[in-house]
Amino acid sequence: MRCLSIDIGGTKIAAAIVENGQVSSRIQLATPTQHVVDAMHDTLANIVKHYQNQFDYIAVASTGIINQGVLTALNPKNLGDLAEFPLKASLARHTNKPIGLLNDVQAAAYAEYQKEDQKEIQNFTFITVSTGVGGGIILNRQLLTEPHGIAGHIGHSLADPNGPICGCGRQGCVEAVASGRAIEAVSSQWAEPCQPKEVFERFRNFDEKATALVHRSAKAIANLVADLVISLDIQKVVIGGSVGLAEGYLPLVQTYLKQMPPVYQCELTKALYGQDAGLVGAAYWVNDQLRG
Ligand SMILES: [Zn+2]
Repeated sequence: MRCLSIDIGGTKIAAAIVENGQVSSRIQLATPTQHVVDAMHDTLANIVKHYQNQFDYIAVASTGIINQGVLTALNPKNLGDLAEFPLKASLARHTNKPIGLLNDVQAAAYAEYQKEDQKEIQNFTFITVSTGVGGGIILNRQLLTEPHGIAGHIGHSLADPNGPICGCGRQGCVEAVASGRAIEAVSSQWAEPCQPKEVFERFRNFDEKATALVHRSAKAIANLVADLVISLDIQKVVIGGSVGLAEGYLPLVQTYLKQMPPVYQCELTKALYGQDAGLVGAAYWVNDQLRG
């Protein structure tokens, strides 16, 4: 079946036809920043029109939380006027084909899971360490999305009860300690301030402060992995995102994990999909939902 797959991010919207995991006719647009509600309705209408007669179903991977087809977020203020945007209903005005929606990191998790031996790996997690920290959880070979689209928001589990206040309002979330934004919050205050990318360059050059900051992040992610293993019997974790894929980061997470007792260990590897993870994962997931 041919899928019109749409990936809605904070700054860009990608769309493509996806069939058997192959992406074609990809387009990319800027996410509306003005008159966002009307502009989002128009953008979605134009995308459906652009691909008219080329697809059998629509799959949407979106930033935020997809709750019963409606876009929201842990902190709805982050979405501005797009909070409570009726994504599914907006698309349904322009097509009578089936429509499925899920969170973009959940979609990426499903894409990564397609690369696994699913007979062997039944419990799996994808973690993205990027501007924020997100995840998608697969249990008994099923991606957790119901009932409210919350599952997998593991960046908002606890890393440090005395840590910084997170954007979600809770103190000491993993995201507030380990994310690119958390790294920048510290590195921007240095005598020689810098961006996260430069923090990693300094880390690779054995700069003391940069090393401590990258270690703090990697240790929090290793503890998150250990929590997943011990709570859910996760067999394998795949890590992606700009921080997660930065040179030298994953080995550090592996080192911290190896320091824990054996029961906390699991296989830990790099994500294989790049920018199309959301498009491909959403297409696979909705296809599997439709086939029941
Ligand atoms: Zn949080």
